[in-house]
Amino acid sequence: MAQFGQDIDTDRRPLVLIWELTQACDLSCKHCRVDAQPSRHPGELSTAEGKRLLDEASEFGEGQLVVLSGGDPLVRDDVVELVEYGVDAGLQMTMTPSGTESLDAETVQTLEEGGLQRLAVSLDGPDPASHDTFRGEAGSFEQTLRAAHLAADAGLPLQVNTTVSQETVRHLPAMVELVANLGAVLWSVFFLVPVGRGRVLTPISPERAERVMEWLAEVQRDASFGIKTTEAPHDRRVLAQQTGRRSAHETAPDSIGRRMGITAGNGFAFVSHTGLVYPSGFLPEAAGSVRERSVVDIYRNSDLFSALREPANLTGKCGACPFKSVCGGSRSRAFAYTGDPHASDPLCAYVPTEYEGSRPVQAVDRSVE
Ligand code: SF4
Repeated sequence: MAQFGQDIDTDRRPLVLIWELTQACDLSCKHCRVDAQPSRHPGELSTAEGKRLLDEASEFGEGQLVVLSGGDPLVRDDVVELVEYGVDAGLQMTMTPSGTESLDAETVQTLEEGGLQRLAVSLDGPDPASHDTFRGEAGSFEQTLRAAHLAADAGLPLQVNTTVSQETVRHLPAMVELVANLGAVLWSVFFLVPVGRGRVLTPISPERAERVMEWLAEVQRDASFGIKTTEAPHDRRVLAQQTGRRSAHETAPDSIGRRMGITAGNGFAFVSHTGLVYPSGFLPEAAGSVRERSVVDIYRNSDLFSALREPANLTGKCGACPFKSVCGGSRSRAFAYTGDPHASDPLCAYVPTEYEGSRPVQAVDRSVE
């Protein structure tokens, strides 16, 4: 049985359910997963369909975490209504808006009063020069900082999301101070998966990733905020090597209660703006549509999700790895480079003892349009 913390059986429910409300956004960030568009798609889930999705999500169990993402979720004029509806259904509602002018004091206050539990902003550099260059938008850094302060003023817990690539990795030490000064409760560090516009960015090497993960473990010991990685479950392997504990039950939970690496379809599910259900926003293989089948049924019973939760399906280096039950590698990154979601994660430097098979390379990018 795959479990997070002590309570969540990831065969039955995701730790995180993301709903991409829309792909519309006013920004054109370099790393954008979706190549965001200026206008809303006519096939987006309607308000009524969204409410049905939230009702279904509540069937996963009490306090299911739902992240409203985009594009920019604030482009939709029913976003507050949906937050309130989710809260009434017993969900933990959080949101990742874009750093635009629509994220003003009134909106943040309304979201807090509607029951939103956390607001996540993206900061990919510690100053305007680094962040705005990365985002492709002058003024984005100041706008995002303003939003972060508005969240603090409204009493809304703040999460900071940062992308790690060759373009940003040198700024990470300075980011620690910024995240602390903003009073964030969580720093989410996303290790680039080259899909969407993110293909113009350069992933760091596996060796550099290893050093970053070791450094993050050190930072976590003294930080005033929690740290979690995204698409880098091998941080659990790094921790297991440091502590000598190899099974999910033995390892200590991280700042959001994970004892094992959260991977696509195993603790994680993503519903697109048109209702397609994916194992992650970075693994473009749909397992069904919420217009035809409950998201709970798709998560628990679809062939794709069931196969992704089975460590025995892993191949290559990940398949031979003694840490596969606590890590499992990024299935999204494996798919982006090979077209096979069960292949090895090319960002991992670890080679199991006596493993003599092929090693994945990051040179070939086959991510799906
Ligand atoms: S080889 Fe695969 S399963 Fe093992 S630590 Fe690396 S990414 Fe994780």
